[in-house]
Amino acid sequence: MEVKASVKQLTDALKQEHGITPGLAVVIVGDDPASRVYVNNKKKACEAVGFLSEEYALPAETTQEELLALVETLNNKADINGILVQLPLPKHLDDKAVIAAISPLKDVDAFHAVNVGKIMLGEYDFLPCTPAGVMEMLHSYHISVEGKDCVVIGRSNIVGKPMGMLLLHENGTVTICHSRTKNLAEVCRRADILVAAVGIPKFVKADMVKDGAVVIDVGMNRDENGKLCGDVDFENVKDKCAFITPVPGGVGPMTIATLMKNTLKACKLQNGIA
Ligand code: NAP
Repeated sequence: MEVKASVKQLTDALKQEHGITPGLAVVIVGDDPASRVYVNNKKKACEAVGFLSEEYALPAETTQEELLALVETLNNKADINGILVQLPLPKHLDDKAVIAAISPLKDVDAFHAVNVGKIMLGEYDFLPCTPAGVMEMLHSYHISVEGKDCVVIGRSNIVGKPMGMLLLHENGTVTICHSRTKNLAEVCRRADILVAAVGIPKFVKADMVKDGAVVIDVGMNRDENGKLCGDVDFENVKDKCAFITPVPGGVGPMTIATLMKNTLKACKLQNGIA
């Protein structure tokens, strides 16, 4: 079943059997237009699955103390099960300190050090939304990772590193590339599964892709005409692949679906429901 439909069904059951509604608080600081779009999409998804959703839109000049105080309030708010602080934050704010302040039990992005550590150990409550969304997509298309050469371009804490770890958990042979990787095209051409999380429009060209590869495009960029595009040169790469995800409409919706899944799990954990 589609992830969001399954979350909705489980949420309806939770309401009926226990009288509990999962709640997600989304905090946005400043007026970055891309962040605003992401936050609106998350709120819409909450409504669609029947969650309570609260938005805290703070002005760009919010201080670190004010933001930390809000996080503390949300940590203690009984009807809020998940807290998401939309990144990036304005430059004067310390995102590491803000993430560290979120209760690990409500950290539905799985960015807190406690949750990151649990993921490394393979004993986690929450998985980070984008990499988990990619894995969900691979599963739903019956694409096995086991024994495959998997190449991830990008090593951010949000996408690249956890992506590599999840592929490793499923017995892929994983290479993580970054801006200092030598012979990048050659490394990418070895990939049975190539994940691009670079943040550069149309970065992955056809000569970087093996015939029959699975190509997952995590990128969300604007091209020279301001149009949303991925990290992969989709038009020139698509005919070489066994499977490729489009942008928009590929990994993005799976990321949000995982956020819903994590919030439901957080709600159940906080209420002692298996
Ligand atoms: P990031 O923090 O900027 O990381 C980019 C990574 O790409 C870094 O590790 C960097 O290497 C590497 N890189 C940059 N230039 C490179 C080059 N020329 N060759 C090889 N590697 C290079 O970005 P991010 O947060 O991971 O996001 C990546 C993309 O995914 C962005 O387009 C973002 O908008 C998108 N995104 C999408 C979703 C979704 O829901 N679909 C969610 C999150 C992010 P160094 O470490 O060496 O600098």
